Amino acid sequence: MSKNKGTIGVTSDNIFPVIKKFLYSDHEIFLREMVSNAVDAVQKLKILAQNGEFKDELGDLKVEVKLDEKAKTITISDNGIGMTADEIERYINQIAFSGATDFLDKYKDNPNAIIGHFGLGFYSAFMVSKKVEIFTKSYKDVPAQHWTCDGSPEFTLEECKKETRGTEIVLHIDDDNAEFLEQTRIAAMLHKYCKFLPIPIIFGKKKEWKDGKEVDTQQDNVINNTAPAWTKKPADLKNEDYAAFYQELYPYAEEPLFNIHLNVDFPFSLTGILYFPKIKNNVEIQKNKIQLYCNQVFVTDSVEGIVPDFLTLLHGVLDSPDIPLNVSRSYLQSDANVKKISTHITKKVADRLQEIFKNDRKQFEEKWDALKIFIIYGMLTDEKFYERALDFALLKNCDGKCFTFGEYKELIKGEQTDKNGTLTYLYANSLTEQHVYIEAAKAKGYDVLLFDGQLDTHLISHLEQKLEKVHFVRVDSDVPEKLIQKKDEQKPVLSAEETNALTTIFYAQLPQIEKTEINISVENFGAEANPVIVTQNEFMRRMKEMSATGSNPMMSFYGEMPDSYNLVLNIANPSISKIFDEQKNSLSAEIEQILAEISDLEKQKNDLSEKHKKLKDDEVPLAEKEQKTALDKQIADLNIKKRDMYGAFSLKKPQVKQLIDLALLAGNLLKGKDLAEFVKRSFEGLR
Ligand code: ADP
Repeated sequence: MSKNKGTIGVTSDNIFPVIKKFLYSDHEIFLREMVSNAVDAVQKLKILAQNGEFKDELGDLKVEVKLDEKAKTITISDNGIGMTADEIERYINQIAFSGATDFLDKYKDNPNAIIGHFGLGFYSAFMVSKKVEIFTKSYKDVPAQHWTCDGSPEFTLEECKKETRGTEIVLHIDDDNAEFLEQTRIAAMLHKYCKFLPIPIIFGKKKEWKDGKEVDTQQDNVINNTAPAWTKKPADLKNEDYAAFYQELYPYAEEPLFNIHLNVDFPFSLTGILYFPKIKNNVEIQKNKIQLYCNQVFVTDSVEGIVPDFLTLLHGVLDSPDIPLNVSRSYLQSDANVKKISTHITKKVADRLQEIFKNDRKQFEEKWDALKIFIIYGMLTDEKFYERALDFALLKNCDGKCFTFGEYKELIKGEQTDKNGTLTYLYANSLTEQHVYIEAAKAKGYDVLLFDGQLDTHLISHLEQKLEKVHFVRVDSDVPEKLIQKKDEQKPVLSAEETNALTTIFYAQLPQIEKTEINISVENFGAEANPVIVTQNEFMRRMKEMSATGSNPMMSFYGEMPDSYNLVLNIANPSISKIFDEQKNSLSAEIEQILAEISDLEKQKNDLSEKHKKLKDDEVPLAEKEQKTALDKQIADLNIKKRDMYGAFSLKKPQVKQLIDLALLAGNLLKGKDLAEFVKRSFEGLR
């Protein structure tokens, strides 16, 4: 036997220190590279057999991984095509490595790039080994070969005794990488990278429990499923098969909502199955991710850039040899092929949702609550998806009825178009907290949508921008009459002084609520409607909500402001009109007297002002200046007197306090001590 020594053909002096240094972060991929090379070798043999170029027995095609803790070796063997001496020279010894230094500089943070780009898969073995041996016998009738290399560019190649076809690669693990000499670690790596490779991969024997101990059986432990669902034809799969595959991917996850089987061969090749999962909380979003494969070899579970953002929430697998897996993320995003793939996936997802909606609307509606996070996220972030989703996205009202956008428009356009022709969508965030308001709006013949999802506020602003002549108003943002302005503003229901009387009486008993400002006004919204109602201005509320999300620093201004509410008194309701009449009966004589005095003083003041208009400031006599100040003081005092009279009247009317508290209660604003007092007072009233 002749022994051949040589230098590995690289243009850089020595690539091994480079490999060790730059590929440091991702050591464990060496096993993926070794096993997938072995699988390739077996696949190649299968093809040769199919073409009739290989006529011998194929035997049980398999790849075996062995760990020898004592010898500190990991051995990967296959019964594939093997290599001739010439092939070793060509495929192993000659490494294309031009412009090495430049390239390494560019990609030093991305070991995957170096490996894939330069076909250095095999050499990743040197990340963890101090010495690598290849024993290989080609399917061609030539002598077996033994290659060794100890991590320097020098190798040896000689004939050896190996009777069986195929390749055995022995990695002598170096001391720094002793962590890989553990059974569980290797098992975990095989599970991560190799669980769906198309050739059986054996790692040790199946184990069983015997006499309280785990012992090896005679059976090979095959770690992979060689025919995962996505490699099959959709027509050959039943719902159970999709469900079972999901379980295989995510053993502890709940049953998914729907699946989408992707199967494209032109203009790129892509297969995969995506699932719409049932997400119950944010934690789960992070846990199970889409797994990306390249010819059934696991590559990564960070698919950002390949899959549109909103679909990264989905689960499942994608497999494509056309995605340049080993390049940087930013490069990925600009790659034309990747863009096409991303667009295609979006389209497929929309198609599938549309199909389910059309064929089984009932099921679609039942699953809507779980599904909507994906669909709304998609509508917000992907223009094309938004357009498609308008056909199947649902709006759900407070009675749990679902409508498409088109259907809903038809439903409300009669009652809910305002005087400017703008369609008003009324909504609530909570069925319980806004119950009173929802009922009041419904009593007016309006429909109220339920928007209680995390993304609904964003959806509202988005729809307002997209849909023409549409705006969204929360049910508690105004009194029912004013939610949708159908006619021009009516004349005030009461005179200025009458309004002042009534609001002052109510201000007198309004509780102080921390960081909250309440403004009182009077409206007429019918004898049947509630006497008092608390509303919160839509614009201000939205600004505060936006400031709470903290996305825009400008908005923090609104965050600092107190919450501002309106307490609206319904003059048409007997409870209010009674108080109004009573104060009129008992106070009007005195009030009129005060008003007359005020009016007289105002007149004197005006006369003086009129006179002073023509004069310069220093020409005005001092006495007259003082007189004017005195008049102001008198007027102010009279106003205080008037206010105190209303206040004193108010305090004699326990129903004022009760009305306020009931309104605050209905608006979820009555809390703590005020609530306790209200309850106590109400109980006492029942005695
Ligand atoms: P790549 O797989 O990207 O071509 P590698 O460095 O991983 O690059 O492998 C180089 C070549 O060595 C392979 O293309 C193949 O021809 C050969 N090779 C590696 N491992 C084996 C094996 N187990 N059996 C047969 N040939 C192999």
